[in-house]
Amino acid sequence: MDAHDGGCGLRRVAVVGGGIAGSMISKSLQFFAHVTLIDPKEYLEIPYGSLRSMVEPCFAERTLINHSHYFTNGRLITSPAVDITESQVLVADGRHVVFDFLVVATGHHHPTLPTTRTQRLHQYTSENERIRGAKSILIIGGGPTGVELAGEIATEFPDKAITLVHDGPRLLEFIGPKASDKALRWLISKRVNVKLEQTIDLNDVSDGTTSFQSSKGEIIRADCHFVCTGKPVASAWLQKSILKSCLDSHGRLMVDGYLRVKGRHNVFAIGDINDIRESKQGECAKRQAKVAAKNMKMIMVGKESKMESYVPISPTTAMVSLGRKQAIAQFSFTTMSGILPAFIKSRDLFVGKTRKHLGLHPTLLD
Ligand SMILES: Cc1cc2nc3c(=O)[nH]c(=O)nc-3n(C[C@H](O)[C@H](O)[C@H](O)COP(=O)(O)OP(=O)(O)OC[C@H]3O[C@@H](n4cnc5c(N)ncnc54)[C@H](O)[C@@H]3O)c2cc1C
Repeated sequence: MDAHDGGCGLRRVAVVGGGIAGSMISKSLQFFAHVTLIDPKEYLEIPYGSLRSMVEPCFAERTLINHSHYFTNGRLITSPAVDITESQVLVADGRHVVFDFLVVATGHHHPTLPTTRTQRLHQYTSENERIRGAKSILIIGGGPTGVELAGEIATEFPDKAITLVHDGPRLLEFIGPKASDKALRWLISKRVNVKLEQTIDLNDVSDGTTSFQSSKGEIIRADCHFVCTGKPVASAWLQKSILKSCLDSHGRLMVDGYLRVKGRHNVFAIGDINDIRESKQGECAKRQAKVAAKNMKMIMVGKESKMESYVPISPTTAMVSLGRKQAIAQFSFTTMSGILPAFIKSRDLFVGKTRKHLGLHPTLLD
């Protein structure tokens, strides 16, 4: 057993998951508690920069941040958590991390991410080569990831023949029909061939596939393809744990208004992994990390009554970028598209802002 407490009598906080939520809370608590951050990767990836990195690999230099750059006063374990008990996290490398407080921030499941930042940078270079080398590209999935990827490729490589296949009746079903319509019209204007209410059987698809049959029997030829369908939340590792009864039917951890797992005094769940009803966004993950950090500190200093309730962001607010110069924004009072929302989101995709929140320079690398 690893009862590491830093030897300084501080409370022990185990953070499982080094995505946006886990890294933000680890940074906030690192000088207040003895924090152990457990993540299978040595780095944080800012996911909303990933699609730009596919068309411009050097963009990833700023979106892939070694945990050691912002998390300077704690312990990092580079291995996935596999189970938890009342007081310990069990890690795949065999270590048992003892905690007084636990934060679960495992977000969505990303099966193919490599361990090191260098490997991930190479992955972007090879994806970029695939795109450059293809005359025709198929994108499967018309949610935010598929639409944004089509936007990035259509902007950077206007000569590619892009087909986007989506199973639903409209693109971007997580937001309103006006936004879907604007996205569709923009993609068509860029000669993207959008096929709605059709599916591609992913069981028939492998890396080298160049001919795809849709559910309507259409044959689509493409030199390369990208699967942009939704990913499940990363809670499989909790299915047999002491928190199994706290998972809802989607595999999300149910939390109270203070972001504590229901029925648990010392366990928080933040970011995409919890059941807070808002569109799951990096901005929400950051705000949740801030509130949970404050609440944990209040419990530690015996001021539980001063804990803050988390106020969800309206699920109607969303922005989808369409390459570097265009975007669609939906607010509760209006939906707009064009260069104004692009000015807010598409130029930098909130990467500089996220780096600043981590105490790093928005543009310069360390
Ligand atoms: C392509 C794409 C585009 C997006 N665009 C935007 C956008 O424009 N604006 C916006 O605000 N949001 C956007 N989002 C959503 C945003 O990225 C997420 O809401 C945010 O990343 C959630 O953060 P998180 O920390 O909860 O989860 P994640 O970022 O998914 O991080 C989870 C972390 O947990 C780790 N993990 C998983 N399982 C284990 C385990 N068993 N043990 C230890 N660690 C584990 C993972 O390695 C990962 O580091 C986008 C997402 C994607 C994928």
